[in-house]
Order: sequence, then structure tokens, then C-alpha cells
Amino acid sequence: MIRVTSFSGKTVALFGLGGSGLASAQALAAGGAEVIAFDDSAASIEKARAAGIATEDLRKIDWSKVSALVLAPGVPRTHPEPHWSAVLAQKAGVEIIGDVELFCRERRRLAPNSPFVAITGTNGKSTTTALIHHLLKSAGRSTELGGNIGTAVLTLQPPRADHAHVVECSSYQVDLAPTLDPRVGILINVSEDHIDRHGTIDHYAAVKERLVAGVQSGGTAVIGVDDEWCAAAAERVARSGKNVVRISVRRKLTDGIYAENGAIARASGGKTETIATLDNIGSLRGVHNAQNAACAAAAVLALGLTSQEIQNGLRSFGGLVHRMEQVGRKGSTLFVNDSKATNADSSAQALASFTDMFWIAGGKPKSGGITSLAGFFPRIRKAYLIGEAAADFAKTLDGKVAYEVTGTLDRAVAAADRDTAASALKEPVVLLSPACASFDQYRNFEVRGDRFRELVLALPGVAPIK
Ligand code: ADP
Repeated sequence: MIRVTSFSGKTVALFGLGGSGLASAQALAAGGAEVIAFDDSAASIEKARAAGIATEDLRKIDWSKVSALVLAPGVPRTHPEPHWSAVLAQKAGVEIIGDVELFCRERRRLAPNSPFVAITGTNGKSTTTALIHHLLKSAGRSTELGGNIGTAVLTLQPPRADHAHVVECSSYQVDLAPTLDPRVGILINVSEDHIDRHGTIDHYAAVKERLVAGVQSGGTAVIGVDDEWCAAAAERVARSGKNVVRISVRRKLTDGIYAENGAIARASGGKTETIATLDNIGSLRGVHNAQNAACAAAAVLALGLTSQEIQNGLRSFGGLVHRMEQVGRKGSTLFVNDSKATNADSSAQALASFTDMFWIAGGKPKSGGITSLAGFFPRIRKAYLIGEAAADFAKTLDGKVAYEVTGTLDRAVAAADRDTAASALKEPVVLLSPACASFDQYRNFEVRGDRFRELVLALPGVAPIK
């Protein structure tokens, strides 16, 4: 755990007592702050009390004694509307921050030049974070990953010069970190996916830009320039005097890192060199993963890794579960779990990555269905439709793609197994990429993906991958 000393002897209000809220409360208390914590859920309050954290309704406290309000990630400071605790803090003129900010303040005190890598973007954050951590680790560096990817940042080891913190940041976490100053900041991409939660796209993009605009002096801002918001951000950050490494998977750059024909290349000063190839790396299939891999390569190059170390690390990267996760092989058939694809845009990444697919889709439908995926239909040999969306998806596929309404995942896996075995295709792929939320049949997408994996591995003759 990182002891947060910046509020030693002061009173801090904290709202949101999930995993990282609890960790923040403990880190602040360990550093000598008096913490008053609260949550809208009685069960969370009880849990915090049991862990020895003082709790009190923040509506009833004397805000004039409070030095800061710490919000758990996910509790909005501004958009779509400020949480009531944020309104109270604002009225009292109390600063509102989150756990990443507490981490940054502690790092500046303990090891201001430590290899702290912060990652944000609309898509690919977790993959890029896990990949950077893996590349560093496989090169023998001391490293930990945390933040939005699941491990609260304050539960990691205290910052020190030879230890990397690779931290995934959601927009909320960036918004709650006014002095975020990583050694390497990465903005992968911006798209309109989650705008409902952030007001306008301009506000959302501006929040994300802050992560790269804030990189410390001598640090590196890595920015994907394939969308208009990030391209503009790269210009602004470069103009402010920061070292910017531009990333593209759409075009050759004359100065930056780009992916082309399965290779990652670096161009600068009129010269181009190949950093690594992505050929035959199953965990990094697809243009979207090339973008993640190019960002990760840029980050670790900035931290001194060699091309050879990057190539070795890319080859041994296992990928993240539920994101185009290669589960097993039966003869030439590959089974892929992409349960994280809970909307059509996400499924598009997987559908673009394979040919000859036996596609399992459906669940709790999202607006628009799968009409936007029509361009991929010619690659789909057959679809197996499950959950509430089945009838609607069937209508979209009718006359274009062979399909079967199987209703459930177990029937879909059995049918796809039967059909791939009977096909004479070179590398058929059974792909679970639902383009739907899971809540009609499963608690969450993880449970759905785990069930798929279990069903596949129970098929006779399947060899697990990994
Ligand atoms: P995040 O942490 O930002 O949600 P993940 O790495 O968990 O991203 O990937 C989630 C899904 O987003 C993947 O299954 C894939 O469909 C899509 N994705 C991943 N990387 C990218 C990218 N660079 N561009 C577009 N989509 C991506």
C-alpha cells in the first residue's frame, strides 16, 4: 500500500466505498489524515466500518474543516451531473480529487522521475496497459499495473526510481487528477462511444487530452493521431513544448510510430526502422490491436527498452481474457471468446480480424442492433443467435447470412462445433462476439465469457490455448 502523506493532520471527506474508495481511505489514514467516509449504500458503509474506517453522512459534516473531497472513480465530479457530495464540496470551496491524484502527489514526494505510465483512450486501455506491463516485465523490469484495470492504484508499491507503475485511467480518473504528470502519458484514441456519460464529445476529448498535456518535463506524450480529436490534441501538446510521439495504423508517418502490413515501424529524421512484427501473434490480431501494440511499443521505447526486447515481449503476450481471447483449438478450428464486445462497434473489431467465422451473437440488445456490421456478413459462414436479441438479429441476417436461433450459449457452441467439423474450411473460427450486453442471461460479460470457455474446453478433442 502507498501511504498518502499529503493530507497528514488534515481532514479528508471521501465518497464511494467500493474497492478503490476503501483503498484510498486506508492509504490516507495510514498517512495520518482524518478520513470521514460515506456511500449511498448502507452495505458499503457497514463494510468500511468493519475495516476500521470512520463513516458519517457527508450532508451533516462541517465542511469548513475539510481539506479535500476524495471521490471514488465512477462518481461524477461534473458530467452527466455532479454527485451531491461534489456539490457540497464545491459550495464550501473544497478541492475534489481522486486516487490517481493522491498517487501523483505521493510520487512527486518519493520518486518524481519514477517510470509512471498513464494510459487513457476510448478503446484499448486495458489491452495497452496489460501489454506495457508485460513488455516491461519480460525485459526484466520491476513493474506493476493498476488503476481502472482493476487494482486500485494506492494498493500498489510506493513509487521508487526503478519501479514502473502502469496505470489505466478512465475519463473520470483523469478528471479527478488535476496535477496528473506521468513520465509517459498515452492517449490511444477518442470516439463517440460513451458520450452519454460525459456531456459533449468536446468535453470528453478535452478531459482525456489532459493526461497527455500533463506529462512531466522530459517525459513523453504518446498520441494516436487517427481520429480528429487526438490529431488536434497532438498538435496542441507538441506546440506546448512537450515531446510527442504520434501513432498511426492508417498511414505512414514521417515522424512517429506506425503499424503497416503487420509490422511496427519508427520514422524520424528521414529514417525508418522496423521495431517489431506482429505476424502470427494471435493475442494481437486486428488493426485495433496494432494500434494498442504501437502505443505500447512507443511507451517502452521511451523507457529504454530495445526493439529486440519489445519483439520478445510481444510474442509472449497472452492477451486479456474476454477480448478476442483464444480459448482452444479443435483440429483446424479456433475458438475465440470476445464476450467483452457488448455493442456492434466492439464486435466490428473482431469480425474484421478473422475470415470464415461461425459467429455466436445476441444477448440484451443495444440500439441499432447489428445493421452496422453488414460489411462483414460475407465472411460469416453461419450465425448462432442467443438471448433477447435473437429475433431482431435474425431479421437483419435474413437472406444474407445462414443462421440458427439457438437461444442459449450451450446450444450455440454445440451447433457451431458440429458445423465447423463438417466444413472443409482451412481455419474456421467459432467466435463469441455478442454485440449485446449479457444481462438477459448472465450477471455480466465476464460470466458469459467464462461459460463460453467452459463449454468449449468441454468439447471432445479441444486443446486449450495457453
Ligand atoms: P478498454 O479498456 O478501453 O475498454 P479493452 O482493451 O478492454 O479496452 O478492449 C475492449 C474492446 O474494445 C476490445 O474487445 C475491442 O473490441 C475494442 N478495442 C480494443 N482496442 C481498440 C482500439 N485500439 N481501437 C478500437 N477498438 C478497440
